[in-house]
Amino acid sequence: MTQPFSTRLLAWYDQHGRKDLPWQHPRAPYRVWISEIMLQQTQVTTVIGYFEKFMAHFPSVRDLAKAPQDEVLHLWTGLGYYARARNLHKAAQAMVTEHNGELPGDLDALQALPGIGRSTAGAILAQGFDTRAVILDGNVKRVLTRHGAVEGFPGRTAVAKTLWELADTKTPDTRSADYTQAIMDLGATLCVRRTPNCDACPVSQDCAALKANRVSDFPYPKPKKAKPTKTARMYIVRGSEGDVLLEQRPQEGIWGGLWNPPERAADYADSSFLAEYDLDAGEVLQGSPFRHTFSHYHLDITPVFVALNGALPALVTDGDAALWYQPEGGQQQLGLSAVAVKLLAAPLPEPQLPL
Ligand code: SF4
Repeated sequence: MTQPFSTRLLAWYDQHGRKDLPWQHPRAPYRVWISEIMLQQTQVTTVIGYFEKFMAHFPSVRDLAKAPQDEVLHLWTGLGYYARARNLHKAAQAMVTEHNGELPGDLDALQALPGIGRSTAGAILAQGFDTRAVILDGNVKRVLTRHGAVEGFPGRTAVAKTLWELADTKTPDTRSADYTQAIMDLGATLCVRRTPNCDACPVSQDCAALKANRVSDFPYPKPKKAKPTKTARMYIVRGSEGDVLLEQRPQEGIWGGLWNPPERAADYADSSFLAEYDLDAGEVLQGSPFRHTFSHYHLDITPVFVALNGALPALVTDGDAALWYQPEGGQQQLGLSAVAVKLLAAPLPEPQLPL
């Protein structure tokens, strides 16, 4: 007789599962929460370094809650999906005011916090509190859609409902932390997106997709929708000491709260931009356009490099929306977008010679 799914999976985990991830030592609720948020859309190998740095800076909920937002975004620079960092910060502040600086050990209270969805709340309970809880992240969805040959795109409500029910049925009453880690590990190491290693899989015996020779059909892909393309100019304004002009993005929307080279409409006149800040430009050079793709649109960016004459002009702006940033050895800790990092490191284009 076939043993239960969880029994086979846990036996495999005991031999082959990942037990040396930094957030497993110790597996405390705060550390599990931070790792779970970082792991959304991001590989374990990338997350490890960020996680260790983050923990060194913010060893507790209270440390995170009282930090300036810029410091949090600075430590997130390069990880992408910055709403995650802003929500972490807001959730830590809510934990201080509402939960005495601790993560609540309750599914509804966790889900009421910014950025914590049902699966993340389940992972925190299972891993951080070792109580029975159900998870359904990307890896688990892949395993369950294949194992149960669940038809339809998992983002559809009816399919998601089936998957949550399946996930619940399979979750054992004991060893919750190990089981959730085991099913995530199975998805990350054997039941991978391309070429899963079914020969080594502990639950292959009753895997419906394997039996039907349809493993590559699951999970169903997201129905395709063409992404629109937007265009913009971005100004990389440098003083003679290497200081660069940055503007802070509004809190809501793309790159919310991050610092970026000033972005203007693609047909904005360079002279209008220079006049905005009263800049005395020695040289204005247009670079090659490049594309940055967000989840829901492409942004074609034309970089414009401006070298200033003389001293840096004082910035007269509304609030703190712009500043001079010193990329080399400066003390300012700012959250920069990936595009800002790229543009600040970009070489100057060749001057265009008159024809
Ligand atoms: S048998 Fe293959 S497809 Fe089925 S769950 Fe295991 S690794 Fe995934």
